Amino acid sequence: MATIFTKIVRGEIPSYKIAENDTHFAFLDINPIAEGHTLVIPKKEIDYVFDLPDELLGETLVFAKKVAHGIDKALDTIRTGIIVEGLEVPHAHIHLVPIYSVSQNVSLRNKVDVTEDRMKELAEIISAEVKV
Ligand code: 5GP
Repeated sequence: MATIFTKIVRGEIPSYKIAENDTHFAFLDINPIAEGHTLVIPKKEIDYVFDLPDELLGETLVFAKKVAHGIDKALDTIRTGIIVEGLEVPHAHIHLVPIYSVSQNVSLRNKVDVTEDRMKELAEIISAEVKV
């Protein structure tokens, strides 16, 4: 059965899309820990990130780098952090977390409220700055 992230790539489940190429997809995390919290996935369904073939792992990081630079450009970050956990969704993904201050609690347990309107706006302003 397709993972929830594959259904997002196929458009069967809506998402706030940030960027896409032939092999990768980026979209806002629906339960963000910061405004602009983005997930990057390879389209290929592999559960554990360290089971990705070397070349695909490299491509995933390069794709994430381009998205992170777009986040930094679009939002007033000091940088974008990276978290890989993978305990909830069995489809390899990288969390890109915009960091706005050195005291920010950068933890996947630290959810923040972001309205639907703001999520839409964030997707628009970030995607406009991402070139993949
Ligand atoms: P992890 O597997 O690394 O623990 O976290 C999975 C992440 O996927 C969570 O931060 C969760 O909010 C996010 N997530 C789960 N289901 C959906 C979904 O349907 N849409 C989006 N955009 N994010 C999701």
